[in-house]
Amino acid sequence: MRKLVSLLTALAFGAVTFAVPALAQDKGTIGIAMPTKSSARWISDGNSMVKQFEEAGYSADLQYAEDDIPNQLAQIENMITKEVDALVIAAIDGTTLSNALANAAALGIPVIAYDRLIRDSPDVDYYATFDNFKVGVQQANSLVAGLKERFPDVETWNVELFGGSPDDNNAYFFYNGAMSVLQPLIDEGKINIVSGQMGMDTVGTLRWDGAVAQARMDNLLSAHYTDAQLHGVLSPYDGLSIGILSSLKGVGYGSGDQEMPIVTGQDAEVPSVKSILAGEQYSTVFKDTRELARVTVGMVDSLLQGGEPEINDTETYDNGVKVVPSYLLEPVSVDASNWEDVLVGSGYYTMDQIK
Ligand code: BGC
Repeated sequence: MRKLVSLLTALAFGAVTFAVPALAQDKGTIGIAMPTKSSARWISDGNSMVKQFEEAGYSADLQYAEDDIPNQLAQIENMITKEVDALVIAAIDGTTLSNALANAAALGIPVIAYDRLIRDSPDVDYYATFDNFKVGVQQANSLVAGLKERFPDVETWNVELFGGSPDDNNAYFFYNGAMSVLQPLIDEGKINIVSGQMGMDTVGTLRWDGAVAQARMDNLLSAHYTDAQLHGVLSPYDGLSIGILSSLKGVGYGSGDQEMPIVTGQDAEVPSVKSILAGEQYSTVFKDTRELARVTVGMVDSLLQGGEPEINDTETYDNGVKVVPSYLLEPVSVDASNWEDVLVGSGYYTMDQIK
């Protein structure tokens, strides 16, 4: 927008004589900072946004930081130096961007926190995400449904808990949502966390790293389950579930008469959908990244064209400095009973990708 104003000013003063470019297709450049390409969901997020920004008349500068915090910071600083017209950021560590965002604010560059809340900064204008608490509720509900289905006669289910990355604000929402369902069952003795390991401080998985989850599952199995049978694992993300499942298979779960424990997930990534079809992972949570892109592009377009971004939540996401006005989309729990409807029916995947 600022570039447009200076161009028009220059034109008005006769300093520029060439033809005005196709303004309808030149609404500005949007800097998009994504965390990593190691997970398919962020690739879909980035691709959907570039497509939709371009359709709306913007250019996009899309960068991935491979989960390296200084790398992401440098990418964002670079976008600010280039004076992009708006920033869309899915932060790796939501607490490390305050200085950069202060510089963005000084230049009048609006900032949208994408999927993950950016904490400890007044310079976050809007937040586009899913109902993250509900994601956790859905994961726990699915875990309990699976336990009832696969282990109906067991009086007390033995369960272990995994959390997401402690530097990602979402991880606490997922965990707290899940515990709102599981804690009452723990209190009444229906679920036993055999290791006793609870709370995000203890069960968090730095950088959402599947290898870290696999190593922790190995340790839990050898320390607590040489005699006891494990019935379920709360896993907040498909990439962790894959590590957890390979640890479980390593000690014989899922073969012979050792039933596979119920393992949850999130993101409906292709390998995990295949794992659900193979009877290994029990469920996942689908979050339609095309919709998240749509909401975000709409927010940016409103901000830059002088409108009011659409929001539906002004209470939930306090980033430590302010409550960031948000738009929350609905997550969908997916398992063997509804994957085709939800994932193929919506056109998110083709049947060929899954089978
Ligand atoms: C996202 C999840 C994702 C996780 C790991 C979270 O912030 O909300 O969808 O599974 O990061 O990438």
